[in-house]
Amino acid sequence: MKLAKGCIEAEYWLYAAPHHSLSACIAGPAGFPYPRERTIRILLVEDDPELARRLSDGLRGEGYVVEHAASGKMGLGLGREEDFDAAILDLGLPDMQGVEVLRQWRKLHREMPVLILTARGSWTEKVEGLNAGADDYITKPSHVQEIAARLRALMRRSAGRGSPVLVHNDIEVSPVSGTVSVAGKPVDLTAQEFRILNYFMHRHGRLISQNELIEHLYPLEEERDPNTIEVYIARLRKKLGRDVIKTQRGLGYRLG
Ligand code: CA
Repeated sequence: MKLAKGCIEAEYWLYAAPHHSLSACIAGPAGFPYPRERTIRILLVEDDPELARRLSDGLRGEGYVVEHAASGKMGLGLGREEDFDAAILDLGLPDMQGVEVLRQWRKLHREMPVLILTARGSWTEKVEGLNAGADDYITKPSHVQEIAARLRALMRRSAGRGSPVLVHNDIEVSPVSGTVSVAGKPVDLTAQEFRILNYFMHRHGRLISQNELIEHLYPLEEERDPNTIEVYIARLRKKLGRDVIKTQRGLGYRLG
């Protein structure tokens, strides 16, 4: 791998100074440096050196920047300190359980998509991993191409939450902290009002039917009353401004 002037071997640098971002230093497979904004950074937490090397090489060949942590503690630290577009996390690590690493990331609101690597046939591992906040799993032995395909799917799915703040006209919504402001002034919403607004913000410009909102808001087993949607919409208009949500009679709603 060719490195830009002033940069040193990536993995060595990473271990020596984990707080520094590497993106600017890493060159692509063809020797062209990736512009920082186009760099996709993957964190690989895997203690098996042979598997780690195979996965790193394969993913770098796909154009990703891969940063490898060979232990749970190192993975936890990197995932906490650095920004990644996705992580691949082995659940069987020598120093701490992979699932514990994941729990701690999620507790710290590290929301990158996480693909867990599990032992074949261990359904309890998969369930535990998914419950701890993993987005998908893959069983070993695994092919690099399959892992790369799963990562792409995960990153596509998470693109909507890539931006920490959603903006529409003068409304700002932070799905992570659950805060809303209009023209810079904070607005208090109830949990259900927030969920509705968040749903609109993720689909701004699109017409959303009452049925779609109901399906999004209520679990299947709960009683569903379309009138409650009207009430929530009216309350949101009162709090955010009358024209924020437009009604298209008989069809649904959209952000104004
Ligand atoms: Ca392992």
